[in-house]
Parts: sequence; structure tokens; C-alpha cells
Amino acid sequence: MPTRARWFGLAALLMLAGLPCQAAETSIIAIVGATVIHPDRDLPSAVAPDSTLIIAGRRIESIGPAGSTAVPAGATRIDGKGKWVVPGLIDSHVHFFQSGNLYTRPDVADFNAWMPYAKEVERNKRRLAATFKVWLASGVTSVVDIGGPFWNFEMRDAALKSPTAPRVAVAGPLLSMVDRVKLDLGDPPIIKIASADEARALVRRELERKPDFIKVWFIHRQGDDLAAQEAIVKAAGDAAHAAGVRLAVHATELVVAKASLRAGADFLVHSVEDAAVDEEFLALAKRNRALYCPTLFVTLGYRYALSNTWQPTEAERRLADSQILAAMSDLQRIPRDMLPERVVKAMSQPTPPKPSAIALQNLRKVWDAGIPVVMGTDAGNIGTLHGPSVFREMEIMTQAGLTPLQVLRSATSNGSKAMGMERDIGTLAAGKLADLVILDADPLADVMNLSKIHRVIKDGKLLAPAARASAGN
Ligand SMILES: [Zn+2]
Repeated sequence: MPTRARWFGLAALLMLAGLPCQAAETSIIAIVGATVIHPDRDLPSAVAPDSTLIIAGRRIESIGPAGSTAVPAGATRIDGKGKWVVPGLIDSHVHFFQSGNLYTRPDVADFNAWMPYAKEVERNKRRLAATFKVWLASGVTSVVDIGGPFWNFEMRDAALKSPTAPRVAVAGPLLSMVDRVKLDLGDPPIIKIASADEARALVRRELERKPDFIKVWFIHRQGDDLAAQEAIVKAAGDAAHAAGVRLAVHATELVVAKASLRAGADFLVHSVEDAAVDEEFLALAKRNRALYCPTLFVTLGYRYALSNTWQPTEAERRLADSQILAAMSDLQRIPRDMLPERVVKAMSQPTPPKPSAIALQNLRKVWDAGIPVVMGTDAGNIGTLHGPSVFREMEIMTQAGLTPLQVLRSATSNGSKAMGMERDIGTLAAGKLADLVILDADPLADVMNLSKIHRVIKDGKLLAPAARASAGN
């Protein structure tokens, strides 16, 4: 990378020569006198008070003490006094084919009689640009969509072209042990695989679209042959690895998670919820250098929403897609005879859900074993809204005993590994892409302060403070 001084030297020469010059147009932003947080470091070196950060074009050019870091002439100056700067957040587990509202998973709760699923999916496609903005407004500059229909690859293209979208890594349709016919509108997000050959064939189809991950939905029910299922997952993993693509697996029981790791999983996208993780699990995860995404809020989201007790958080009221927010209380207006049986039951005896104690203990154990934990929400599932649900997730992670710094690390430098971009994002240093959030409150005092967003910068571009999606299409 040429330094800015050299660019200017070159620009002057080109101008003298009467040649057009791009370098002179490089925009420069200076954040002056802020507290810069380095989540990849431990305390006290994680905190750099009274710092100035210079962004030139897409990248961070320098970070240094305010007293000795000159602000270039012509820079857009942001006063950092009383502000904190953190790397842009990364949500390592989202699904753009789902909206978070009640109608988005008819295989779980079927509202087709009231709202046809085809209309819901159509809405989600049409609404992508707004959903992208909601992520950025929430300080999330990168997301991993870990499985959806083949149109997920078009979603990735759209995000790449948009100046107001997060960076997106993507998986195609989930290779599944079970059918989900209610989600099949011709381009299903979940495809049942019954043999190793079928697994290889579907992986081949997905590899044509250059996925960032191959994803397996490893559902193991009583009576299923675990060894046979593991062989299918291994066939998928081997085919993915042969093409240099990583294997992500949904596995929520200890024996299934271990089978996934033996089969080559690089990324476990859920907590182990049924039993304490043991030495064998930890050793397998280390052998694979696997990432572990606890995904703690999503089950609570379903339970709140389907019992009509879902309430928006302050951050959701401020940042979420207003269309989705408005639909979250629809159970009040849907005629009773159109409600799924399980919803009628849940509404009659709502019990406040709590995060799984085993999942919380396992998060602590996995973290202490040195396995990289990445923050992820499973956004798009019923009750888990795109964008501000990250603040719910991070709050629950602190209940496992993680410090705010550790939670922030999972959502930044560790998350960059899920994105496959650890050289470019996730930390604040000269040469890195300029994805960052300026906060009005100290994120190490309370993770909820990560929602107190002053400004978001993605790819060196300063975003308008209220990029939130408003009503309409
Ligand atoms: Zn998921």
C-alpha cells in the first residue's frame, strides 16, 4: 500500500502532467481524541485513550496518540472526545430468507391460512436492501448467512454492489437429514439428503456458486443410525474441503456435535445444549480449529413470539425494520381458528423463557479451552430480528460469565475468522479495512453500550446516523 503522502506526491506529478488523477479524490476521515478499543488484546492494552484514527479511502491509515497524530488537511473531522471506537461488529449466524416475523417458518408454526408463506418469502426478497441497512445501522458491518435457498448467492451479489450493505459470507441450501416440505417453493432452503452420493451431488451444485460454507443440518432423532448419518456429513465435508470450502454444521446434542467434528466440521453454529461438553469434544474441536457459535437467544425468540409475549428492546424500537416490528404483535389480530395449535397452547400459558443453563456452562468451558467463540444470533428466525438482536445475544453471553471484552472479541476479531477475512477486518490497525463503530458509551463497562451508536463506518464510508429502514416497500 502506498502511503497517503506518496499518493499526494504522485497526484501532484500527474496534475502537473495534466493527467486525470484518482488518488487526489481519496476521501480522508479523522476521528480525533477517541478511546480506541482493541478487542483482540487483553486489558490494559485493549484500551487506547485519547487516540486519533485516520482513514484514507477504504482503509485505516494510522492510529496513534492524539497529541502526535496530525490530522491531514481536507479530512472530514469527527470529534472523538467522550467517544469509543470499536471494530464493526460481525454476526456469524444469520439467514436472509427469513424475516424474524411469525410467518417465516411455517414448518415450525403454520400461519399459511392467514399469511401465505409465498408472500412472506417474496417480501423478504423485495426487502433485502432495507434489511441490509438495518444491519449497518446496528453497527454490524459483516454477517455470515449460514444457509438458505440458491437465491442466497444473488443476495450476496446484491450486498456486494450496495454501498449500504454489510459484507456477506454465504452458504447455499442446507444438506439435511429431514424434509421440510412447507419451505419448498421451488428453491428450498433445506434439502433432504439420504446418502453420501446425494450429499456429494448437492455439494457439487453448490460449489458452482462459490459458497463460503457448505452447511449441514444434522438432525439426529431416536432410532436414527448415527454412524450412517456421520458418513453422509463426512462425504459432504470431504467434497467441500477438496474445493477449499469450509463445513458448517447445525448440531445441538453432544454426540451429534462430536460426530460432526469427526466428519470434519470447521464451524459449529449452535451450542451443545443437552450435556456438558467433555474432553473428547474439546480435543476434536481443537483438532479441527473449529469455531463455536453459541447462538443463545434464538430459542427464546421463538418462545416469546409464539406465546405473544415478545416485546421489543429499546435498541429494537430504535433500529429494527419497522415493518417487522409492526408485525410482531399480529397474534392479537389473527382470528383464533387460524392459529396453529401450539400457538393457542403457548398463548394460554405463557412461561417466561430462560437461556439453557447447560448451553451457558458450555460456552464458558469452550471459551476457557481456547476454542474461538464467535457471536451469532440466527437472525431471521421467529422472534430474532435482523440487526439489533445482536444486543440481546451479547447480553446473554455475559450471563455465561464472559466479560464485555470477551463478548466484543467474539463479535469482532473472532468473527472475522467466520467471515474468512481475519487479515482485513475484525481489528483496528493500519492497513485494515475501515469497518468500525463510534459509540457514545464505554462498551467495556456494559455490552449494551454497543447499541449506543454515534456513527458507523463501513469500507471507509461514513454512514448517515439514521440509516434505518422505514415503512413501505
Ligand atoms: Zn441458523
